Amino acid sequence: MKLYKVNAIVLRSIECGNGDKLLVLFSREFGRMKVMAHGVSKPFSRKRGSVQPFTYTKFLIGRGRELDSVSQCEGMEMFPFIRHDLETIGYASYLSELVLSLTPEGERNEPLFRLLLETMRLMEEGGAEILTRSFEIKAAALMGYRPVLDACAHCGEPLAGRLFFCAEAGGALCQNCHAVDARAVPVSRGMVEILKALLNWPQGRLRQLKISAADRRQIKTLLYEYLKYYLERDLKSVSFLNRFTADP
Ligand SMILES: [Zn+2]
Repeated sequence: MKLYKVNAIVLRSIECGNGDKLLVLFSREFGRMKVMAHGVSKPFSRKRGSVQPFTYTKFLIGRGRELDSVSQCEGMEMFPFIRHDLETIGYASYLSELVLSLTPEGERNEPLFRLLLETMRLMEEGGAEILTRSFEIKAAALMGYRPVLDACAHCGEPLAGRLFFCAEAGGALCQNCHAVDARAVPVSRGMVEILKALLNWPQGRLRQLKISAADRRQIKTLLYEYLKYYLERDLKSVSFLNRFTADP
């Protein structure tokens, strides 16, 4: 059997009977992939811990005719704090779903892989909500939907006067252009600055960002509309969108 190695975060693990699990991985090497893990649900399986969701694991995988299967695996980072807190589980599950919805199978995206791993690591210190919002906008940018925030997304002029945000227009709009799309919503200049920080600051620096509860609610709605607009083009994402309205 031909073997190959991957370093991957387990996004999902689905029971298949007989102690087997189907794993959905997000790997550094090949992006999203499905592999079968035989016997890992059995009580004394040594692989059990390394195939749980939100685990960063080194896999040795054997090529199969239909599905490849796990030959060996070794958990490198288990992220126990994620499983010990319901709110963190919620955010981490959401990140997994987002990666599942945004990425095509078999397409390597190392920046997105590093972003996911770093976000999960930083969640140990708290701040899961802001880390998640930043993950959303950065992930959209990495998938080719970077919002325009430094200038008006429609006319390209510096942002002046009252400001607006519009997913369909691709970002912020100036006072003169907001009428190009009836779905544009008014935002403060401070809100545009927060969105820029969420997009551009490294995840590790976000703790310095102080955001009021009202602003956090608006950011959540704006980014929801933004991702929804780009994900709706893809029917596979619909089930995800249905879940998306629920917290977080
Ligand atoms: Zn404009």
